[in-house]
Amino acid sequence: MKKMEVGVLGATGMVGQMYVRLLENHPWFDVSYVAASPKSAGKTYSEAVAGRWQMQTGIPKNVAQLRVEDAGAVDKALGKCSFVFSALEMDKQAIRDLENKYAQNDIPVVSNASAHRWTEDVPMLVPEINSQHLDIIPIQKKNHGWKRGFVVVKPNCSIQSYITPIHALEKAGFKVARMIVSTMQAISGAGYPGVASLDVIDNIVPYIGGEEEKSEKEPLKILGRIEKGRFVDSDSLTISAHCNRVPVQDGHTACASIEFEERKPSREDIIRIWRSFRSLPQELKLPFAPEQPIIYREEENRPQPRKDRDTEKGMAVTVGRLRECNVFDFRFVGLSHNTIRGAAGGGILNAELLKAKGFF
Ligand code: NAP
Repeated sequence: MKKMEVGVLGATGMVGQMYVRLLENHPWFDVSYVAASPKSAGKTYSEAVAGRWQMQTGIPKNVAQLRVEDAGAVDKALGKCSFVFSALEMDKQAIRDLENKYAQNDIPVVSNASAHRWTEDVPMLVPEINSQHLDIIPIQKKNHGWKRGFVVVKPNCSIQSYITPIHALEKAGFKVARMIVSTMQAISGAGYPGVASLDVIDNIVPYIGGEEEKSEKEPLKILGRIEKGRFVDSDSLTISAHCNRVPVQDGHTACASIEFEERKPSREDIIRIWRSFRSLPQELKLPFAPEQPIIYREEENRPQPRKDRDTEKGMAVTVGRLRECNVFDFRFVGLSHNTIRGAAGGGILNAELLKAKGFF
């Protein structure tokens, strides 16, 4: 099979570098176009990331010599790629405008940025949870008069560590009504150079701008439905979130307490449901789909970021410490890799689903 040529916008940043690393030897996609800010434009990719390449492996040879373009100059991408991953960090309105411009120019956008997450005809996709939300794409295209282009986004990087387990329970008939979640988020979540070392070493910062609102609201769109051509949020779940920045390099952890609506499962039911949960990416055998999306660990001191974030190549959610709660019904700890499952790996899985469903 001939591979599709793909672009990465924001290719020099933390998430962009992860795209470049994860797409090396991808069976379906080949990176043929990289773009970033005007200050990187004109350099080769290896010159543009010199001194700030954060990956543990070297720069893939096929990308190292690509010329970095200015992401704002959409015409440079024409004819060079079939779609782009967007990992841009700039003003939200500027990102929205730019992503729309790519779509308008027949280049679909699979985005990591938060800019379009609340656009009413843009799906916020977690392929194991809401693949049916892709039904909005023809409507989105029609709304804008776009022929081939469209925009799909992925949610915030910490959400899947608790919302995938909640969705698995809902799917099995046990609806969660209320939830309190405290996240402990890795420093790589803030990009590079990100949080100052003097702020985070030997410390916990109990505030991440905008993060609690995202953690509370984004799951409601993901669990919501399409009505009259737009998304309507789920109104059956209320979330209260505390978000903390902790001195961990990669891997966001979430401690959650949950209360069920009516039917309450037993502890054994919950573990069985999590372990047996499979969804469309697994049925379609998408290359980046974890075989087992939720891994439950029995050890009393797991999950831990260093030991569990790379499970299933960083694409699985690891859950543990399920026990009764004195206030709600149950409590547990969830963990997922923020720059893989929560960012570039999640974006790649979105693109694989879009390709498998014939959207490109
Ligand atoms: P980052 O390390 O700061 O990288 C930002 C990228 O955007 C760089 O490639 C940068 O290019 C480019 N850029 C900045 N200003 C630009 C401009 N005016 N025009 C064109 N390109 C410009 O950020 P990041 O952590 O990779 O995050 C990227 C996006 O993913 C953000 O929207 C973030 O919210 C989202 N996200 C991040 C994570 C995570 O775990 N880090 C998870 C989920 C989602 P230069 O190198 O040339 O400056």
